[in-house]
Amino acid sequence: DVTETVESKNLLAESESYFRQMADLMPDKVSSTDPKGKPDYFNRNWLDYTGLDSDTLKDLCWSEFVHPEEKVKFDELWQQSLRTGNNFEMELRYLSKEGTYKWHLSRFEAVRDEAGKIKMWIGTNTEIQKIKEEEKRKEEFLKMVSHELKTPITSIKGYVQLLLNQLKKEEERTTLGLPLKPSLERIDHQVRKLTRLISEMLDLSRLEERKLRLQKERFSINDLVRETVQDIKYTSTQHRVNIHDNYRCSVLADRDRIGQVLINFIINAIKYSPENPVIDIFIEEAGKDMVDIRVKDNGIGIEKKDQKNIFRRFYRIDGKNRETYSGFGIGLFLAKEIIERHNGEICVKSLKGEGSDFSFKLNVVP
Ligand code: ADP
Repeated sequence: DVTETVESKNLLAESESYFRQMADLMPDKVSSTDPKGKPDYFNRNWLDYTGLDSDTLKDLCWSEFVHPEEKVKFDELWQQSLRTGNNFEMELRYLSKEGTYKWHLSRFEAVRDEAGKIKMWIGTNTEIQKIKEEEKRKEEFLKMVSHELKTPITSIKGYVQLLLNQLKKEEERTTLGLPLKPSLERIDHQVRKLTRLISEMLDLSRLEERKLRLQKERFSINDLVRETVQDIKYTSTQHRVNIHDNYRCSVLADRDRIGQVLINFIINAIKYSPENPVIDIFIEEAGKDMVDIRVKDNGIGIEKKDQKNIFRRFYRIDGKNRETYSGFGIGLFLAKEIIERHNGEICVKSLKGEGSDFSFKLNVVP
């Protein structure tokens, strides 16, 4: 009996030593804790990163190295994992022995015995500093490009509008026969398209940084729909947009952002129905204290399998459509984010070849 115990102890020690060797070879920072989360092991990478020995690290625990900005969330999530037994995952910064913080992806998972009782926790921390820096650069680049493009475009837009208005006033007397007006209208149309794209790119980076703020005010949804349609009619003359709004109401929301969702729906309805130039907008009561705003076209429609995906970032339906219609696949993603931030619902109903019906619901206010 004694021999058996000694043998199994030896086996255990051997497998533990293998585990440690393996952990030391890993490029990650690996550690383990007892079931309550008290650390009992740090691999070589942890010691190298912090410049401390194993005993000091065990006393301090890795949470001491977490950046103050992530500390509260870290403590909260870690305690939650210890309470529930669920995996822990978080991106955070750890202090290095050089005194600088580096981004890591931190993961912990519980190891359980056959009865499902937690025996220990094993954690890995993968350095993602380079990826984070890359992401930041990409965001800064996008922001810079958007800002740089916006200024000249705003100025061009202003002049085009001025000239268009003057032309109207002059009743095209002197310029009759010159392609000035249609050219200016084309320019105006293109500039509007560019402006929208730039704003979408900016919103995208704002969303990623969680800086997309809503400025809520009370306004009439009927007025907003009318104004938006008027604005679009000015540049797109081939399509007829009808408004059906027997139901009148106001909402408490970010007027510009809701306008942006509407513009996106209407522009898409126009873009994706080149053969059928009639678009209908319905403003209807939807259950208790809700309004449903629907934009219905008779265009190319969307297959069932694509209907969920079109709200994803950068998603554009594959195939012929992609080459035929220009776009970046950002509009609907932003629309969904905006509506969800208003606690509303966004929805699409469509049949391939028969048209689409995009809608969103918002709470109404008295
Ligand atoms: P974009 O139009 O710039 O590609 P969106 O995010 O606005 O991006 O739309 C995503 C995709 O959904 C489009 O590429 C298109 O395939 C599809 N889509 C959107 N609106 C319609 C519509 N009214 N009819 C048909 N397809 C549509």
